[in-house]
Parts: sequence; C-alpha cells; structure tokens
Amino acid sequence: MTTYTFQTYPATATAKFDCPSCGKKNRTRTFRAECTVNPFNKNEDGTIKTPSEVRMQSSQRAVAERNMFMRKPMCATCENDLTYQDRKLLREQRAA
Ligand SMILES: [Zn+2]
Repeated sequence: MTTYTFQTYPATATAKFDCPSCGKKNRTRTFRAECTVNPFNKNEDGTIKTPSEVRMQSSQRAVAERNMFMRKPMCATCENDLTYQDRKLLREQRAA
C-alpha cells in the first residue's frame, strides 16, 4: 500500500468570552482546522486548490467552528463536567 503525505495548512481561531456557567472572566478557547493540498481538494471549477487557497479554507473552518461555539460559549472546565446528555444538547444548540 502506498501512503501519500499531503502538506497541511493549519489555521486557528480564538474565542474570548466570560463563561456564563461558572462566571469566570476572560476565558479563551482555540479552534484549529487543518486542510491539506491534495488531488481531491478542489475549487468549484475543478482545479486543485493552491496552498494559499487551502490556508484560507483552514482559516474559514476554524472561524466557523469558533462562531458556532460562541452561540453557546463555555469554558473547558465546565464543558468537561457536563453529562453526556448535556453535551449532546450543547452541540445541537451550537449547530442550530
Ligand atoms: Zn466555566
């Protein structure tokens, strides 16, 4: 089997917020996305995305994740303490 290694172009987006659950201020969460330049990552016109287009794609995904998170922000400590059901609900509220 041949393994292909594709160049990744990671990007991050940082959310800054006061946790509405525990009340702690100036919390941050960082969202990371990594897209690769590969033969299947194409533009709408069918051309393979260039490194700068892929970097943009990673950045847009990281920002989209951050924006979803900011619909219902919560610090990592509080989120880790949630029950499975509450986490599921939270994901649904963020995706809505
Ligand atoms: Zn909290």
